[in-house]
Amino acid sequence: MKYLVTGGAGFIGSHLSERLLAEGHRVLVLDDLSTGRYENIAHLEGRANFEVRVASVTDPAIVERCVNEVEGVFHLASAVGVKLVVDQPVKTIETIVGGTDNVLKFCARYRRPVLLTSTSEVYGKSEKIPFAEGDDCVIGPTTTRRWAYACAKALDEFLAMAHWNESRLPVVIARLFNTVGPRQTGRYGMVIPRFIEQGLAGEPITVFGDGTQSRCFAHVLDVVGALVKLMETPAARGDVFNIGNAEEVTILQLAERVRTLTGSKSTIRLVPYSQAFAAGFEDMVRRVPDLAKVRRMIDYRPTRNLDQILDDVRAELTTDRT
Ligand code: UDP
Repeated sequence: MKYLVTGGAGFIGSHLSERLLAEGHRVLVLDDLSTGRYENIAHLEGRANFEVRVASVTDPAIVERCVNEVEGVFHLASAVGVKLVVDQPVKTIETIVGGTDNVLKFCARYRRPVLLTSTSEVYGKSEKIPFAEGDDCVIGPTTTRRWAYACAKALDEFLAMAHWNESRLPVVIARLFNTVGPRQTGRYGMVIPRFIEQGLAGEPITVFGDGTQSRCFAHVLDVVGALVKLMETPAARGDVFNIGNAEEVTILQLAERVRTLTGSKSTIRLVPYSQAFAAGFEDMVRRVPDLAKVRRMIDYRPTRNLDQILDDVRAELTTDRT
């Protein structure tokens, strides 16, 4: 198969491209290198079955050409990271909604199967733990910038389902929960690369709020395996699936584990949210995926735990520093 991977130079997209190539597929990456990095895919360039186009998913002419050339589309291109979402609110909404509109429109026109990557953010501040796909999304007010991301992604999901309902566009939606691993940058806020960089540098590890908020982290290699399987499973079309890992950790516990792992003398510094972010930020207290549905559909079982995730990220960042 020849697949288009939008956002293929990003952290998750580059691992996905690698996986697809390893399975014998051809890959066309569309990425504007805004948050993605060329270094993520530099090692793939030159392979006969790999091609890159540097352009934005918001450009309809380019998207049409790319979709026309392939047999299936993984749509990962998106604004990413809480920091970027809060700092660049217009670009965030335009990229998410405009980009997905283009991808779905041309996939519908050329009848290409498409996998849309969404996010656990769409559950918002729901307190019903764990989050199952049929649960209500509890989004905050439009005056709080963070929720624009959740709403834009939810609108993408609605649009995908609308195409499915109107014309049976073969589309499947994957809601990703805190995906982590090598190549993720801490620049846009992601907590694990930030903590490990701070630990390795002996700088204070900055825990936002009181650190009692929790997350469940999934290894990117588990996640990309699930994305490929979902795409290859016709029974999954017209539906939404959580992908993640249900192992929960508080951010304070995470900071302590990183300090031990990096053998660091770093202190742990609690930073009030009001100092960490511009106005318009609100954190989620807990976010745990219910994985029953995706397990039933593709027998998904994450095989890498938090220790392995932390080890892999540390190994990469240690190499970078030497
Ligand atoms: N966080 C933190 N310190 C940092 C970066 C993030 O304490 O330097 C916290 C953040 O407030 C959130 C959690 O870590 O509670 C996960 O943040 P991230 O941005 O990685 O992902 P999110 O789950 O918020 O999308």
